[in-house]
Amino acid sequence: MDAIDALNETAFWLERELADSFKVQAFRRAAGIIAELSQEDLAARLKDGRLKRTKGIGSRTYEVISQAVDGRVPDYLENLRRRGAEPLANGGRKLNAELRGDLHSHSNWSDGGSPIDVMADAARILGREYIALTDHSPNLTIANGLSPERLMEQLTVVDGINERYGQEPGFRLLTGIEVDILEGGGLDQSEDLLGQLDVVVASVHSKLRSEKGPMTRRMLAAIENPHTNVLGHCTGRLVKGSRGTRPPSEFDPREVFASCAEHSVAVEINSRPERQDPPDELIQIALDAGCLFSIDSDAHAPGQLDFLQYGAERAEVNGVPAERIVTTWPLARLLEWLQSKQ
Ligand SMILES: [Zn+2]
Ligand SMILES: [Zn+2]
Repeated sequence: MDAIDALNETAFWLERELADSFKVQAFRRAAGIIAELSQEDLAARLKDGRLKRTKGIGSRTYEVISQAVDGRVPDYLENLRRRGAEPLANGGRKLNAELRGDLHSHSNWSDGGSPIDVMADAARILGREYIALTDHSPNLTIANGLSPERLMEQLTVVDGINERYGQEPGFRLLTGIEVDILEGGGLDQSEDLLGQLDVVVASVHSKLRSEKGPMTRRMLAAIENPHTNVLGHCTGRLVKGSRGTRPPSEFDPREVFASCAEHSVAVEINSRPERQDPPDELIQIALDAGCLFSIDSDAHAPGQLDFLQYGAERAEVNGVPAERIVTTWPLARLLEWLQSKQ
């Protein structure tokens, strides 16, 4: 087995089962280190013990590399694969099988951990027909949000990746953004650029503790913006995880979801285990309001693209029909819906 593939695949499965990111990164870093070496050089360094002493190569990564170079699937990876064959979530399997795409993901251009093509490749491994790359907007400086210039540069990179995939059709990387809904309700990117993107996910990331009235008005303004396609993690709550917990923000859900239905903005069911957003009672209100939904991973690393299973489980428990979930739609129908907004 190729040692670089073995290390990257190990990282992928670890991420999927929510391992600590330092552990995941150790495998990716080791992959980067040996990618610099020729096959012969790697074999020689294994043989004379230099590899073991290399900075960035630990005992586990060393074991994976040496077993792969021996021509077999490393034990550690074999175990991870076995665990990975088990579904992540207990419910939602039928709906999960109907999901074709994902409209919310991040690369290392903002606060994700991996290059764009690594994310896209992982999405293809998982059988997606499309995913949208939605890195953060300028206002989110802590997440290295993209300036207009960097976003324009990213569009050409995405074009290049799609061109490469064009040889074997069946997958498309959609351009996009997770744009901050600013305090006044405006979207944090130029109108012109928003109009060029396939997918605009609008999310609140600041002043989450605002009062109900101003928060409702802020969200309504974003939903009415003709560029908005998806309302991202609408309450901003955190229910568990390393960042601690955070209560849902307060807004009038009837007004907000009625506006989503009116303006054909899909309500995101954010699949991240620490978010589980919107809460069940809000999904019901959105259902009653006639909203469309988008089950998204909000993946910040390749292994997290499989989080859709959690979102599918929640959608199924809440009785959301597949037909109302835009990410079950074939690409052509999805594009028609997206383009009807611009
Ligand atoms: Zn977000
Ligand atoms: Zn996000």
